[in-house]
Amino acid sequence: MSSDCPIPKTRSKDGSATSSADVLLRKPQGGAIFGMSVKSIKTGKVKAKRTVTVLKVNNIKSKAPKAPLEQPSVPLLNNSHSISSLELDEAASPGFKQTKEALIKFINIECIPAEKIYREQQKSLSQQGINAIPQIVKDLQRKARKYRVWNLYLSEEFIGATRFSQYEYCQLFEVLSRSFLGTMATNCDIANTATMYMLAKHFPPTVKDKVLLPLIRGAIYTGVALSEPNVSSSDYTNLKTVIRRDGGSWVVNGQKSWVTNAGHPDCKFVAVFGRRCESDRGGALAFVPLDAPGVKFIGSHSTFGYDDAPEGFYDIQFDNVRVPLDMAISGKNTWAKMQGSLIPGRLHQCIRAIGMAERALDLLIARAAQRKTFGKPLLSQGTILNYIAESRADINLSRMLTYKAAKSFDTFGPFASTMDTSIAKMVVPTATGRVIDKAIQIFGAAGVGNEQPLASMWSKVRCLRITEGPDEVHKLQVARLEIKRFLSEQSCVLPTKPKL
Ligand SMILES: Cc1cc2nc3c(=O)[nH]c(=O)nc-3n(C[C@H](O)[C@H](O)[C@H](O)COP(=O)(O)OP(=O)(O)OC[C@H]3O[C@@H](n4cnc5c(N)ncnc54)[C@H](O)[C@@H]3O)c2cc1C
Repeated sequence: MSSDCPIPKTRSKDGSATSSADVLLRKPQGGAIFGMSVKSIKTGKVKAKRTVTVLKVNNIKSKAPKAPLEQPSVPLLNNSHSISSLELDEAASPGFKQTKEALIKFINIECIPAEKIYREQQKSLSQQGINAIPQIVKDLQRKARKYRVWNLYLSEEFIGATRFSQYEYCQLFEVLSRSFLGTMATNCDIANTATMYMLAKHFPPTVKDKVLLPLIRGAIYTGVALSEPNVSSSDYTNLKTVIRRDGGSWVVNGQKSWVTNAGHPDCKFVAVFGRRCESDRGGALAFVPLDAPGVKFIGSHSTFGYDDAPEGFYDIQFDNVRVPLDMAISGKNTWAKMQGSLIPGRLHQCIRAIGMAERALDLLIARAAQRKTFGKPLLSQGTILNYIAESRADINLSRMLTYKAAKSFDTFGPFASTMDTSIAKMVVPTATGRVIDKAIQIFGAAGVGNEQPLASMWSKVRCLRITEGPDEVHKLQVARLEIKRFLSEQSCVLPTKPKL
């Protein structure tokens, strides 16, 4: 196992040497990742005018909404090889099973059918030049509370620790990723959950009332401002923003780019990372109110033409922005503290990509079943069967790697799980991108239009190869750890000693 799947050695609680592979082998629930039980999906017959799909989700029967012939009706939640059929963790946290079942219903019954309404409301608001969250999101958020699927990461009752393990949360996140409304509806936006965690773990209690509680209650949004326009931001030691202590406050100076969520009408704070002074390598992290004097929005970006309104990606200038003392932390561990809070987000991004790929594969199959070329349904063409098989393999591979990384994170913590997290991050966006790309191909022209979610999904998954650390940086990380393992295990002398 170790040579195929190198894992950093570390110490378990009882002090014995162990590795994440040990844990997967020791605990059968980890094996669930590799031994998924397969249930059958009942897909409906294609009728002359409409297609109705009845599916069974953990014994919950639900009916897909009727769809016009041009838009293939697909199972709303593919349960056959997805999260729901993974064996439940033996030591599942209290309420996990019920939460997952409720979430499946919520996404299935409330979110997916609401997507069209969201798009219409969003378009109408944009046409009127109004930057607001479509009403349907607020309606869904109210319903999420009733379904008891609100705040799945931290909550008012679970401020000190996450409600569920990362392994469990990833299972929930996969369910909610089936719909792009899932994170908004349940207050599980990736940047928000990262800042919630930072605030709960590393900031003084005085900040709780100002930022953390409103965030947990869904009253505000936040962003994370790390990247800068004038330096290579893959390497944080390049960052130039300075967060300097000055009497009774901190003063922030610098320029940040591509801050996700900054355009959201409820975005009130961004977590700005910088250095304590120009010559200091010690970091500082400040929660900066976006309405503070000296904060200037200087530009916005689209991704492949999508403006991702209303959250968006913004460049922000900070000119002598003052923040109170309790709103910043500094010191040589600050980068590690910030990274520790951001690493789970990488797994959540991978899971989100898997959720999108599952939906893309469902769409691919449904479309191929409906269309005929040269007298035969597309679904009976060998090339298409190949696409389907390759897609399933790509999704399953992605899922195994991500859940393995989540298990590793739960067992060893953020840094000792670097190998597994980086492998997942370097493989999953490309593998899930291939699935979405195939679905686009099968839809022909309709695949690249806005009527289907595929083009937008592809754009998100493609961006993921750059965000949260570009592919190459994760490869570098994996290669370094692998060489270290080799050097520590072999007694051979290398002609050139690599600088790691
Ligand atoms: C959709 C989207 C959302 C984003 N959201 C945020 C956000 O919320 N907050 C935030 O702070 N930033 C955000 N970013 C910015 C993102 O984090 C950075 O783009 C990313 O860290 C890469 O930094 P860079 O663009 O400066 O590229 P660079 O660091 O200049 O790297 C460019 C390319 O060089 C290659 N490269 C880099 N290092 C190496 C290496 N060691 N070896 C080989 N090749 C290498 C990679 O291919 C990389 O893509 C977002 C970006 C996108 C596209």
